[in-house]
Amino acid sequence: MIDLRSDTLTKPTPEMLDVILSAEVGDDVFGEDPTVNHLEEKIAAKFGHEAALFCVSATMSNQIAIRVNTSPQDEVICDKNAHIYKYEGGGMMANSHVSVRLLDGDRGRITAAQIQENINPDNVHFPRTKLVAIENTMNKGGGCCYNLKEVQKIREICVGNNLRTHLDGARIFNALVASGESALDWGSQFDTISICFSKGLGAPVGSALLGSKETIDHARRVRKIFGGGWRQAGYLAAACNYALDNHIDRLKEDHIKASEIGKCLAKRPFIKEVIPVETNIIIAECEGVEAEKLVRIFRDHGILCFTFSSTQIRLVTHLDISIDQMNDAVTIINAMKI
Ligand SMILES: *Cc1c(COP(=O)(O)O)cnc(C)c1O
Repeated sequence: MIDLRSDTLTKPTPEMLDVILSAEVGDDVFGEDPTVNHLEEKIAAKFGHEAALFCVSATMSNQIAIRVNTSPQDEVICDKNAHIYKYEGGGMMANSHVSVRLLDGDRGRITAAQIQENINPDNVHFPRTKLVAIENTMNKGGGCCYNLKEVQKIREICVGNNLRTHLDGARIFNALVASGESALDWGSQFDTISICFSKGLGAPVGSALLGSKETIDHARRVRKIFGGGWRQAGYLAAACNYALDNHIDRLKEDHIKASEIGKCLAKRPFIKEVIPVETNIIIAECEGVEAEKLVRIFRDHGILCFTFSSTQIRLVTHLDISIDQMNDAVTIINAMKI
């Protein structure tokens, strides 16, 4: 099977496993796990932030970010397809008691002008607008990337209106590799950033939340009450350290593989359109066949993928898909008759 369902499916490489097994660990709730401490310092420095918090999942780091950036009754602005809204089980409401203002972005990318229009006036009727959250790359938008210039405008508006900014950067390294922009330039636009190590970077578990020292001290208290205080987490942090050192540049290869598969799909009669492939995610609109049926047909031919809506399928390339498997997938798709 060529498994293109998600970039979370990767398993540690033998080299990563070696690093895990030889990790120096301690009790992280006591702040005594040297491998966790090293990871937190390293990832914070990469984005020019003061501090970082190693978390279980990017859902957890997003949820903690929303909690530390808001107070109950505040409002969060994000795109209608944002992961924090759509795929985190209503956590914003349950964990932080905030309301959400959903914007209709271009493939999930909201603009400074849209945000400006949706900031509530200071009036007792309205929730207080407090946080703007954007996602890069945008999963629902087919892994598309934000323009840094637009993000700088967003930051200006937020600073001018006393709003906090959060980046759901589960796949930020895919965006940076695709655009050639620097982590520091992106880091300076946000109060908090959530980064996932268990997607394209290929670590088994883990995410990080970045922010100021004060914000991360607060975040550490929130993580504790979410049940996320962990002990010898260094075994997992070791994998994330390894991924940061070895698995960033190679994301280029995932993007090439996605682009090849996307080009091949676009030519097939059962596909109406492929959303332009910018990184490692391919979203294809089906033609004359339901997405669910197409996914079953793909599976019968040895390719696993997801339905993304009733008319769309999603395929994702990652570390565990070799160039040979990509070529096989292209051959299979080219030969498929429906
Ligand atoms: C996957 C994903 C998350 C959540 O990551 P988990 O580690 O699976 O909890 C958050 N945001 C985006 C954009 C994602 O794609």
